[in-house]
Amino acid sequence: MAKNKQASSAKFYLLTLGCPKNQVDSEGITEMLYQSDYQSVGDPNQAEILIVNTCGFLQAAKDESIAALNELAQSKRKNQLLIAAGCMAQRFGNDITRQVKGLDGLIGTRAWADIVPFIQKLRANKRPEPLYHLPETGDVVLETIALDRQLVERGRASAYLKISDGCSAPCAFCTIPSFKGLNRSRPQEHLITEAKQLAETGVHEVIIIAQDTTAYGRDWGEMDGLPTLLEQLVQAAPEIKWWRLMYAYPGHVSPRLIEVMAAHPQIIPYIDLPLQHGDPATLKRMHRPHNVDKLVRWIESYRQAMPGAVIRTTFIVGYPGETEAEFDGLLDFMETVQFDRVGAFTFSPEPGTPAFDLPDQIAPEIQQERWERLMAFQQPISLARNQLCVGQQLDVIVDGIGDGVSVARSYRDAPEIDGYVVIEQELPIGQMLSVQVTGAMEYDLLAKPNDNMILDHRIGDLRF
Ligand code: SF4
Repeated sequence: MAKNKQASSAKFYLLTLGCPKNQVDSEGITEMLYQSDYQSVGDPNQAEILIVNTCGFLQAAKDESIAALNELAQSKRKNQLLIAAGCMAQRFGNDITRQVKGLDGLIGTRAWADIVPFIQKLRANKRPEPLYHLPETGDVVLETIALDRQLVERGRASAYLKISDGCSAPCAFCTIPSFKGLNRSRPQEHLITEAKQLAETGVHEVIIIAQDTTAYGRDWGEMDGLPTLLEQLVQAAPEIKWWRLMYAYPGHVSPRLIEVMAAHPQIIPYIDLPLQHGDPATLKRMHRPHNVDKLVRWIESYRQAMPGAVIRTTFIVGYPGETEAEFDGLLDFMETVQFDRVGAFTFSPEPGTPAFDLPDQIAPEIQQERWERLMAFQQPISLARNQLCVGQQLDVIVDGIGDGVSVARSYRDAPEIDGYVVIEQELPIGQMLSVQVTGAMEYDLLAKPNDNMILDHRIGDLRF
């Protein structure tokens, strides 16, 4: 990648909204700007370039992105550039420029790798209208880029590794394929290089993400490519202590995935498997895999193969046509599976998706009531799962300290999504330590440091 010394010392402020997948794109943007000698600042007032990496998944996310852009636009100085990047920019284009006065440019999900020349173009633009770089087709950029992860990650305990982008699943409520395109897997050699770089920076935990991690390799005809990739990553970077798997698709999880996870203790026994519903009729209308019995059998195998294995999922409640019986079916499913972690959303009709036009849309107050019932239903299950940890030793990564306690995460907690392990002592941030669990709540655990805190890998000792 050619360096652009001309831009030397220009400062940028980058605000990232949305999910970890956006976070990874932001790290790519940051890396490219670093390579061209731009400097990152945490205060927008000190920056010449203001970038918001937006989220456009649901209306609420769009509102948040518009609000963030407007806030920056209102305090923008004459010599500052304001850029909307990411999903919402790609999805809504003109609509955003109508709602945000003072926007200088929009760069989409397929184009962020062009951030440096795009900024140059904006600087040269003398016209008041914003410039657009929102290609509607083409490869998702990460497919072709080998990032240098050492530029951004140094000093962090956890890092994301995005193995593919886009999605080829047909979910009737989802807008993602419309603006990210179909699933495109990144070359294995790029991912292995990045894994080694991350290990060199001292990262303990690598979180594997994509819209659908289990679709890895399907675009080149490898129908179960993820287990092989995991084996290669673990081998390439043995220093990484935790490999965490997010965003698996229920139709693509395989027995081989369980085998590979069970054979490599570094691949922690945690899976995020967003199921969206548990009633076959609702799942069918969602255009999602609806063989619930098969899925339950896979989950049983997963738990049998790895003592202490954790499953996180998310559900959508109030999907069009969801009857009271279907909602009860979802609760029955939750009772059967006993998920460790559950997140839930009320259905949001997104224009352009098949679900938007479905009959029997559910009234917001019924959606809300069902959401509350679902969350209350899950609480004792989460508590019971957490109570199984009491008395056990767990390895944790310390995320923060204050008031005499440390806030840490065990392998059971994905960052910014799950709960915490609260330890009665201030410990070094970023370190991986061993603790003993002394108490459990619905979302969090309480723990005390072990006498010999510096760890080896002990997940395999857990007996649930
Ligand atoms: S698998 Fe996820 S990202 Fe893909 S279409 Fe379905 S909900 Fe959207």
